[in-house]
Amino acid sequence: MIIILKKSATKQQAEELLAIIAEHGLKPLYMPGSERTVLGALGDERVLAKLSLEAYPFVDRVLPILSPYKRASRELQTHDTVVRVKGVAIGPGHFTVIAGPCAVESEAQILESARLVKAAGGHMLRGGAYKPRTSPYSFQGLEDEGLRYLAAASKETGLPVVTEVTDPHDIPKMVEHADMLQVGARNMQNFRLLKELGRAGKPVLLKRGMSATYTDLLMSAEYILSEGNADVVLCERGIRTFETGTRNTLDLNAVPYLKERTHLPVIVDPSHGTGLRDLVLPMSKAAAAAGADGLIVEMHPQPDHALSDGQQSLFPEQFAKLMEQVGRVAALEGRSLK
Ligand code: PEP
Ligand code: MN
Repeated sequence: MIIILKKSATKQQAEELLAIIAEHGLKPLYMPGSERTVLGALGDERVLAKLSLEAYPFVDRVLPILSPYKRASRELQTHDTVVRVKGVAIGPGHFTVIAGPCAVESEAQILESARLVKAAGGHMLRGGAYKPRTSPYSFQGLEDEGLRYLAAASKETGLPVVTEVTDPHDIPKMVEHADMLQVGARNMQNFRLLKELGRAGKPVLLKRGMSATYTDLLMSAEYILSEGNADVVLCERGIRTFETGTRNTLDLNAVPYLKERTHLPVIVDPSHGTGLRDLVLPMSKAAAAAGADGLIVEMHPQPDHALSDGQQSLFPEQFAKLMEQVGRVAALEGRSLK
C-alpha cells in the first residue's frame, strides 16, 4: 500500500502513521519527497485493508501496489536507484563495466587482470574465488586464498571487486574482502542466501537464473530488499533455450522489460550469455543500445590457459577495443564510461 500524505502534513503526523503501521505487524516505509511525503505499508493485505488509512485528515490518497514485488517496483519508487560500489556508480548517466577472469587462479593472474581492466578504463574487477561448477571434477576455485588475492588486486589498482557467494556461511569473510557480492544463476532462488544478503550491508549483483522468468528474478530481488538492503543490481546472463549454437541465449528483451517495471539498475553479461568470445563485443553494443546500465565481462590475460570459461573470455586487446566501441554506443543513450 502506498500512502500519499497531503502537502500540509507534518513529520510528526507521518511518524504517527508509521507507528500505527508497525504496531499492526506491517513493514512501514518513509519516503519524504521535495513536494510531499509518501509512506509505504507492506504486509498482509487483509490487515492493511482494516487500517482505513484514508480516514486520517492528513492523508491524501491510499493506493495498492499491484506488483507482487513491492519494493523493487516502480509503483513504490518512480526514480531510478543508483547503486554505489565504493565510489563506482551503477545507474542512470553511467555505463559501468565490470571485467576480469571467470575465476581467480593465482595472485599474479588476478593482479595482471586488474591492471589490464584498469588500463582499458574498466570500473570494477570480477573474479570467482568459490566457483559453482557443473562437474565436481572441474576447478572449484581457490576459495579463501582467492579472496585474499582479489582484495590485494583491488588495493593495488583501486578497482572495487565483485565475487560470487555460494553459501550463507561464507558471507562474513566475503564482506571483509569484497565490495559487492554476486549471486550466481544457480543460486538465484536460494532464499536463505538472499535473506542473509539482505542483512549483509554490501551491494548485491543478482544474476538471473537460467530458467527464471523476469518475475522470478524480481521476486528474488525482493527477498534482499525486504531485509533492508536497497543496493541490488540485476543481471541478465542468458537463458536456456533449444538453441545449441551458443551456450545460452542472451535475452536482451530483459533490459527494457525490467527497466520499465523496476527502479533497480540492470546490467548484462554477454560472456555467459553467449559462451563465445567473438559474440561478446556485438552483444555488449546491443546491451548498451537496449538501455542497460552496464556490463559484466570475462577477460583473461591468457584465455587459452584459463582454468574456467576460457572460450568466452576476451583477450586483453579485445577488451580494450570493447571499451572504446561500447563507449560510443552508450553515449548515444546518454551514458558515460568516464
Ligand atoms: C560467473 O559469473 O562466472 C558465473 C558462474 O555466472 P553465472 O552464475 O551467470 O553462470
Ligand atoms: Mn564464468
